[in-house]
Parts: sequence; structure tokens; C-alpha cells
Amino acid sequence: MSFLRRISGHVTLAILLSTLLAAPKLLSAQTNPSPAPQAQVEAQVQPSLQAYRLPPEKLAKAISLSRIRNILEIAGSLWSLIFLWLLLATGTWSRVEAWARRRSARRWVQGAWFFAAFFLITTLASLPLDVYGHHASLSYGISVQRWSGWLGDQAKALALTLIFGTLILLLFNWIVRRWPWRYWFGLWVVTVPILLLVMLVEPIVIEPLFDKFEPLAQNNPALVAELERVVTRTGTSIPPDRMFLMKASVKTNGLNAYVSGIGATKRIVVWDTTAGRIPDDEVLFIFGHESGHYVLHHIWKGLIATIIALFFIYWACAAAGAALVRRFGLQWGIEELASRTGFVVLLFVISIAGLILQPLANGMSRHFEHQADIYGQEAVHTIVANPQKTAVDSFNALGEAWLEDPSPSPLIEFWLYNHPSTQNRANFAAHYNPFANGGHGQFFGN
Ligand SMILES: [Zn+2]
Repeated sequence: MSFLRRISGHVTLAILLSTLLAAPKLLSAQTNPSPAPQAQVEAQVQPSLQAYRLPPEKLAKAISLSRIRNILEIAGSLWSLIFLWLLLATGTWSRVEAWARRRSARRWVQGAWFFAAFFLITTLASLPLDVYGHHASLSYGISVQRWSGWLGDQAKALALTLIFGTLILLLFNWIVRRWPWRYWFGLWVVTVPILLLVMLVEPIVIEPLFDKFEPLAQNNPALVAELERVVTRTGTSIPPDRMFLMKASVKTNGLNAYVSGIGATKRIVVWDTTAGRIPDDEVLFIFGHESGHYVLHHIWKGLIATIIALFFIYWACAAAGAALVRRFGLQWGIEELASRTGFVVLLFVISIAGLILQPLANGMSRHFEHQADIYGQEAVHTIVANPQKTAVDSFNALGEAWLEDPSPSPLIEFWLYNHPSTQNRANFAAHYNPFANGGHGQFFGN
């Protein structure tokens, strides 16, 4: 739950979980200190009613980079499905299984080899697209991370996946073998604590492997004092030791803030590309947005929606997987769904379900983000001079820093965006003033 659309996240777990975790996943925000020369631009290129505007040279870049992002995202999803299918249809996965069997007499060791090989092969298959994505990000000046550092991050993500992803798939595969008829229910039962555990430890175990964090108050005491005013107004109890600064500037020029963790690890994180680089008023609004996720329990709501959806996804995918094995098993060299190659069929079907359900998950996420935008704008009312202008300026800074598409096609927004488009967010903010004429907001009385 962050402030802006996140372009790429860490692969913390298996393909399986990353697909399923799509719903409550983070988004990112961008802000920029220098306002675009608007009068000049709108006359030439953009209709004056649009609140999100870019200077001409950035506008062209934003449009072409957005095209690259969209193509990469769609191609990446389709390619991972096609790749799994190709390796099934050519009998490659069953040969990998035969190889794993020769390596040990112990079942679980065979399984560990097989699933580790599975993760290695699928990661290598998606590497070319990931490399191109980083190249594009570098050449458009969004990323500033050198290739060595980037490859190091990829290696760390792969290592995490090899360790934890393999353990999880070993467990899942064992459940399929142990309860061949009702295994989907067993998968669902163990997925719930795994999801909770991942969300609990992510901020303290996984995130520090990739980025450096420090208490926000350490180098930004004045900002924290300002943020405390928002905390007081929202009536929340976000103590300063739950506010962190992430050293994002070594990797990117993009702006962002996010909330993560549950229970004892719950926190608000502001990137160092945001705090200090844009006016404090805008940081207060972004903080207000993140507070909205915190106060409105979006992490929990997303988690519960995911868990409910998974019940039906596992049930339907079990039936579809069994049907595929009946139809193609002989051809693909699969004896049964409970075999390791059979389990790849199940992963394949679950990936398809994830792709089909992506608009639903993104729709829910966009709803949460819109609520958080409203909350953030109401939260800074009485604290900043002009909440509407502050919010619009924040979205412009965000859009300019990330080169966000000023006019994405509605279909692209519907399918791929987990935040409303920057244009929609800025337009809403420009017209949202619930407190005018003694009115009250959705979340605040005054
Ligand atoms: Zn958000």
C-alpha cells in the first residue's frame, strides 16, 4: 500500500505466492519539487482541464516509457505462462523430474532438487525481460542503480526464492500427495499462516536485505514534528519509532512512501527521495495517504479478500489441473497430478487464474488507493494552507519523477494499474473540497 504504482517488486516467494499476493501488494508514489511550466504546455498539448501536466520534453518521454512498461508487463505475464506450457508440452519438466530422482533415493531431496531447478529455470527465462526493464529505467533516468548492484539484488531475490519457495512447494506437493482428493483445502489451510508470516517478517527480514532503513526522526526531526500534527489530527497512534526513512536515492530518482508489516512490525516508510526533496506540505499529504491505509486497515482487508479468493481459486484450479493431466498427461509424461511435474500443471493453472483475476485484484487496490487519497487530503486540512493544491502538486511531482503516463488507455488502467492513474488522482484532488461552506469530509468532521 504505497503512494504510487510500483514498477517492479522483489520476488520474495514462489511464482505461486507472488501471483496470489497481487491483491494487497504495494504501490508507489512520485513527487517533484519543480512545477511544470503549465501555461505553455496546456496550450500546446494537453487540455486545460487536466490537473496532471508535464513539460513537453517530459511528456514525450512519459508516453514512450509508459508504452515500454505496459508492453513489458503484458509480455512478462504471457511469457511466463507460455514458457511453463512449452516446457510441459516438450516433456522438459518430466525430464527434470527424472534427473532429480537420480540425484537421491530420498523423496524430499528429490523434491528439493526439482523445485530448486524449477525456480532457477523460470527465473532465467524471465531475466531478459527484467534486464530490458532495468535498461529502460536507466536510460529514462528513473533508476540510478548500476548493473552490478541490480544483479546483486536479483541474486538475493533468487536465493530467497530458492530457499523459501522450495520449502513451500515441498510442503504443498506433499499435501497433494497425502490427500489426493481434498488437497486443495489443505493447501488453503497452510497458505493462511504462510501469508501472515510473510507479511509479519517482510519489513524486518526481507526489506533490509535490499534497502537501508533508519528512523525517520534521526535526520528529519523537523519533518517528524510536522508529521506528528497529522498523527494527532487522525487520532492514530503511530509513534515516531514506527516511522522509517528508506535510502532509495542510491537506486532511483522516483518518489514513494508505503506502509508494510502487520502487528508488531507495522510501519510507515518514507523514501529519502521524497522527504527533503519535495516541500514538506506534500510529504504531509503523502504521509496522510499512508496513514489512511493504516487507519482504514487496508492491509488486513486485502489479506482477508486474498484468503477468501484463494479458497475458490485452489478449488477451481484443482479441478482444472486434474482435467489437464487427464487430457495431456500421457503426452507430457505425467503419471499423476501428485507427481512433481503434475504439480507444475497445478502451478500453471493457478498462474492463469492469477492473470484472469488481476483486474479484480487491481480494482480492489485502486479502491483502497482512492480512499487513501481522500483520507490524506482530509487529514492535512487545517494543517497545510491549501490541501487541494498540495495534493495536486504531489501528484505532479510523483508523475514527473516516475514519468507516469498522462493519459493511459482505460483498458490498460483497468487491467494493469493498482493505483488510479496519476491523471485521475490529480483531477479528483483538484475538485475535492468537502469542507467548503461548512461541509464535512468522509473521514473528518472538519
Ligand atoms: Zn497507497
